[in-house]
Amino acid sequence: MSDNEKKISRRAFLRAGTAAAALGVIGAAQMPGQAAAAATENMTFQASPTGQWSKLHPRHDYGSALVRFVENDDRWLGTSELLSPPQNTSEADMGFNQANRGLLGELPQKGVRNFIPKHPFGGAISFARTLIAPETVVDGEPSPEKFSIPDPEQMSQHIKDAAYFLRADEVGIGKMPPYAYYSHKVKQGADWTKPLEENIYEFTERLPYVIVVMVDQHLETMLASTGYDGISGSQSMRSYHATGNIAVILAKYIRTLGYRARAHHSANYGAPLPPLMIAAGLGELSRTGDCVIHPRLGFRHKLAAVTTDLPLAPDKPIDFGLIDFCRVCKKCADNCPNQSISFDREPVEYNGYLRWNSDFKKCTIFRTTNEEGSSCGRCMKVCPWNSKEDSWFHKAGTWIGSRGEASANLLKSIDDMFGYGTEEIPKYKWWLEWPDNYKVESAATASGGSIYNK
Ligand code: SF4
Ligand code: SF4
Repeated sequence: MSDNEKKISRRAFLRAGTAAAALGVIGAAQMPGQAAAAATENMTFQASPTGQWSKLHPRHDYGSALVRFVENDDRWLGTSELLSPPQNTSEADMGFNQANRGLLGELPQKGVRNFIPKHPFGGAISFARTLIAPETVVDGEPSPEKFSIPDPEQMSQHIKDAAYFLRADEVGIGKMPPYAYYSHKVKQGADWTKPLEENIYEFTERLPYVIVVMVDQHLETMLASTGYDGISGSQSMRSYHATGNIAVILAKYIRTLGYRARAHHSANYGAPLPPLMIAAGLGELSRTGDCVIHPRLGFRHKLAAVTTDLPLAPDKPIDFGLIDFCRVCKKCADNCPNQSISFDREPVEYNGYLRWNSDFKKCTIFRTTNEEGSSCGRCMKVCPWNSKEDSWFHKAGTWIGSRGEASANLLKSIDDMFGYGTEEIPKYKWWLEWPDNYKVESAATASGGSIYNK
């Protein structure tokens, strides 16, 4: 029997509802239908009695995870402890710009120019994404006259509804952490043959609130992909493009109402988005370093944001037990093709906060020089928190996994036992591959140019 046949049999097995008995987890199997639903109703709404949830999505869809809410506290960002005030970082130091500057070696410097466009579909989405990159699109002066608007709670609900209407999969509102802004931004169209100082400028915006929108990278595509084949870059670009458009529209809308608003998306960030996602109650920091996991989508998502002074009622950060889970799971570290993710049991201090000591430089090197496809999202694919097929068994697993370290072992065992994450399901493979164009040397002349501040 082939691997794929075994996986198809597995699905039939799950549908038959006999898997739990075979695994000896009957107690767990009783939970999702009743207890998980009760947890969702009782826990999800506790933090928001004031009604700022969306009318279009009255429940935040956290899947079957048990989600608790965390009080806003300046000594913490969600469940990440701040040991000393984090310093604002420069955009010039993020991985792809280090590659552009030649700090990661010759091949990544060459590869970063074309690691997305070397797959023509990824290049096409990326092209559309860059059309909304100019400063005049992401930002501008607010209208001189302010419109009358509802109170902050109603306005928050309205903004969330607007984001869902524009096809966001999730949206949250947070208090904007001032340390999360970039200290310096890279100029559009930076020329890295010139000195660093000529390519950056001080980024001075400081606004009180942030709206964060999230779009799924697409379940079936992820299920068919290896995580580092030709479609990998396109999965990211799909969600970057979609969230970028939503953010640009929301920011323009808010400026028209008379308030300041700047969109931040993958072609023009004023801040890295992971801390913003935590502040907006959409996830927790994971073992991968700075990637933030959503209880239902894992990190099969991309984000864009709007910083604003529109009076809003921020959500609370969330806790679904991810720190305990990542402590024991390590599945992303086992599967990373460039050994970029830490196996350490505990997070360590990094720029004033606690996080796992994963190596973003090794990750960037792999993504820019991967010759089996375009970029990489293997850690995203294998993470047990990605929603998978819609089975009661997977729901049981995430419900159990959000209940502490001991339970985390069980979810990981379930995930491994059923081949979740590492499987490739051919019936969903819809895209075309052009392996000859994935070589860094040949791809560099094939099309396009860098999507990251060429
Ligand atoms: Fe490793 Fe790929 Fe994830 Fe980077 S994106 S950490 S190379 S699995
Ligand atoms: Fe955490 Fe496991 Fe996901 Fe890695 S794969 S981020 S260790 S839950």
